[in-house]
Amino acid sequence: MCVLVCGGAGYIGSHACVALAERGHRVVIADNFSNSSPRVLLRLQRIIGAPVECERLDLRSKSAVARLFARHRFDAVMHFAALKAVGESFAQPLAYFENNICGAINLLRAMHEAGVARLVFSSSATVYGDPQSVPINEQARLDVTNPYGRTKLVMEQLIDDLCGTDASFRAANLRYFNPVGAHPSGLIGEDPSGIPNNLMPYICQVAAGRRSKLSIFGDDYPTPDGTGIRDYIHVMDLVRAHVAALDYLMRGEGNLTVNLGTGRGISVLELVHAFERASGCSIPYEIVARRRGDVAQVYADPSLAHRLLGWRTRLDVHAMCRDAWRWQSINPDGYQRPLGKLKSLPLDAIETKA
Ligand code: NAD
Ligand code: UDP
Repeated sequence: MCVLVCGGAGYIGSHACVALAERGHRVVIADNFSNSSPRVLLRLQRIIGAPVECERLDLRSKSAVARLFARHRFDAVMHFAALKAVGESFAQPLAYFENNICGAINLLRAMHEAGVARLVFSSSATVYGDPQSVPINEQARLDVTNPYGRTKLVMEQLIDDLCGTDASFRAANLRYFNPVGAHPSGLIGEDPSGIPNNLMPYICQVAAGRRSKLSIFGDDYPTPDGTGIRDYIHVMDLVRAHVAALDYLMRGEGNLTVNLGTGRGISVLELVHAFERASGCSIPYEIVARRRGDVAQVYADPSLAHRLLGWRTRLDVHAMCRDAWRWQSINPDGYQRPLGKLKSLPLDAIETKA
């Protein structure tokens, strides 16, 4: 199959390209590189062992998307391309609506016109807002608390409407919990620009000496150690679920909306200590005030994904920290360093399959 991967140069999309190629699919990336680097393409080529096709384009341009579909014959689409910073979405809601909703509608329109009827969509646990109870299953109340989350909920609803009116159209809405880690080669990983918002990349940068200490946002939550609990999921497990979801759609079994998490909540302090054990680095931290909008506990009930897709996570928190640290230590400044100048581990010296 030929799979269009929108946002395939980004963190999760690039790992999905590897998983798709391992499954034997041909991959075409479409990306505007607004939050990624073209350097990821050579890294992907190195991992996959063949060049990856890539089209530089912006999904907000209807004509560019139409031209993309005129040039290729796709069997399915994975849609990762979105803006994803919650804080920024309060400051620039229109940019988020335009990018995440208008861009996605352009894509859906082009898929419809070209008769491409299989879509895997990146949604987020943020659609649950502040959950009434944990673990969260897919029947939980949906309650977005920020413009970013609203773009995900709106897109899920538009996609459901399309599935309801076009019997041939099949889609998977995948609600990610907290993706972390990197491909075990250390060649691709998460490369946030500026100061990281998320916990794992921040810890990595402290370990690498780029930041002096971690600020832990509150230790007075009603959790065993007082710090916030989240469901961290290894990105390799996450993208394996995408391939399983695509297989499910191709079998014509129906549409699905599922949580992708481990089902296990981990506190900030537990993650810090797991990272210290996996990396051998010490992570200085200080406890500061809670971050506005944060909630005490968010973790998934992932049993529906297991029932429908036969998928469950395999990689534990040690693997998440080990692989995040390998990526960070080989690439202290992310993708800025060209492939040839990496202090890279030889690819064949480590297990590269998840
Ligand atoms: P990312 O920013 O690393 O990747 C997104 C990619 O899409 C980037 O390469 C960016 O350049 C591209 N892109 C954005 N807008 C585009 C446009 N208009 N046209 C073309 N390309 C465009 O983000 P990620 O962490 O890989 O996230 C992928 C998806 O998963 C996003 O939809 C995000 O909302 C969702 N998600 C991510 C997380 C997370 O913690 N990373 C959690 C839940 C959901
Ligand atoms: N967190 C923290 N310091 C940071 C970043 C995050 O203490 O520099 C905490 C945050 O309060 C939350 C957890 O780590 O309890 C995960 O935060 P992240 O932003 O990674 O994910 P999200 O809150 O979006 O689930």
